[in-house]
Amino acid sequence: MTTPVRVQNRIGDQQLPASTGAEFERRDPADTRRVVSVAPESSADDVRAAVDAATEAAASWRHTTPSRRAELLTGAARLLTERGAAIAAEMVAEEGKPLADAKVEAGRTPRNLELYAGESYRLTGATFPSDDTPLVYSVCDPVGVVGVITPWNFPLNMASRKIGPALAAGNTVVFKPSPMTPLMGERLAAAFIDAGLPPGVLNVVHGFSAGATLVADERVGAVSFTGSNATGAKIHAAMGLGRRVQLELGGKNPVIVLADADLAAAASIVARSSFSLSGQACTGAGRILVDSSVHDELLERVVALAGDYVLGAGDQATTTMGPLVDEHAVAAMEAAVAQAVADGASVACGGIRPDDEALAHGCFFPPTVIADARPDMALSRDEVFGPVIGFERIEGLDEAIASANSVKYGLSAALCTRDLHAAQQFAAEMQAGMVRINRATVGAAFNAPFGGIKQSGTGTHKEQLGPTVMEFYTVMRTIWMGN
Ligand code: NAD
Repeated sequence: MTTPVRVQNRIGDQQLPASTGAEFERRDPADTRRVVSVAPESSADDVRAAVDAATEAAASWRHTTPSRRAELLTGAARLLTERGAAIAAEMVAEEGKPLADAKVEAGRTPRNLELYAGESYRLTGATFPSDDTPLVYSVCDPVGVVGVITPWNFPLNMASRKIGPALAAGNTVVFKPSPMTPLMGERLAAAFIDAGLPPGVLNVVHGFSAGATLVADERVGAVSFTGSNATGAKIHAAMGLGRRVQLELGGKNPVIVLADADLAAAASIVARSSFSLSGQACTGAGRILVDSSVHDELLERVVALAGDYVLGAGDQATTTMGPLVDEHAVAAMEAAVAQAVADGASVACGGIRPDDEALAHGCFFPPTVIADARPDMALSRDEVFGPVIGFERIEGLDEAIASANSVKYGLSAALCTRDLHAAQQFAAEMQAGMVRINRATVGAAFNAPFGGIKQSGTGTHKEQLGPTVMEFYTVMRTIWMGN
């Protein structure tokens, strides 16, 4: 991709620049000299116009038949599949992940839409025996207008998991993609609209301030948000009473390795958990809690695996670790390492920007293992969102679980062991929305519930799986039908 792609807002049946003419650029994080996309910096008026369009379209869209909704969702899925190779290449340039990972995301997104197409048919109510009237029953209505606000790290997949069920339930949507990935937001929206979605049913507004305006609009009955805790807290406060909000937030995800674990397997689980997507997965591991009897051997193995990663642009065949999302993220890694060292930890590998001419124009940071971390350090408590992990010594599972549970987050957690009792105890006591035994903290089953507990999210109506998802996008009312 050589020339930047100019993305526009989608409001009603129109594609529009910002009413002020303001724009922002997104640069290739592997080579920031290249502008990949240019998108509108939407004004408050633009966001209001999008909510106007969604509100107007909601009146008729809610009465669309389930088969029509399913047909449109599967149509969008088909177009995304056909366009998948081109979209994956653009994702590499705009977001930075290696091509193999971009292909996985581009391939999984249509599957999400197929799943939610089926949900159009499965919205149910119930009947209730009653003493005083022949028929009491519940019905499942759409909420109305849904705001969808997404991060950049899975720019298609996250958004499809919100837009898909929202539309399947008969809602209209105003979608605010991350300003890091406006082109991916456009590609996803275009698939729906090209599949025949009526005007106003899906609207898209881009920009840095559009999210706050969208959330403040009382006509938006529900907001589904994935992103940082700082933004989530603002959205939670802004929504107030009477409007619903779903927050999927950050994590400080542990991998616990017990003395009986297969250490070769555990080392690869730690590396995959920590360094996939350059450590920029919400479920990525940050704390490695290792029984002291095997600590040094595991540390050595993980440091060796960290050294095998090849940093580079995601479109290079040799690359196994792409850039971070931007220069701020690289600076945040440097700050996290400096803080850990100031707190008494030591750098076992990585820790500084690569000194390689070929990477000089990109936002690269190597896999970094910090030894001698302790539970009270910032490194062990705060999300880092990059490839910097801390090794901590523990004595047995009880201490490890207590330490892992002492943080404010509860997203994903992994245990490496051969002991079934330990696995059962971990499954029962670990305070995390997703618990993995001898599996990496990262990864998702597209048809299983996904989401965090504690401050990793609102914890209700988890994303992905049928009924728990659809409850967020529907309003249940109860009818007493007399004679
Ligand atoms: P972010 O919070 O900076 O931005 C997310 C979105 O919110 C963007 O579209 C942004 O423009 C918008 N936004 C910013 N301020 C807003 C406001 N005041 N009101 C409304 N919207 C606003 O997050 P990010 O940097 O894009 O993503 C990284 C974060 O997302 C990490 O913390 C990561 O853990 C989290 N994440 C969580 C999950 C999950 O499923 N739990 C998945 C992916 C990412």
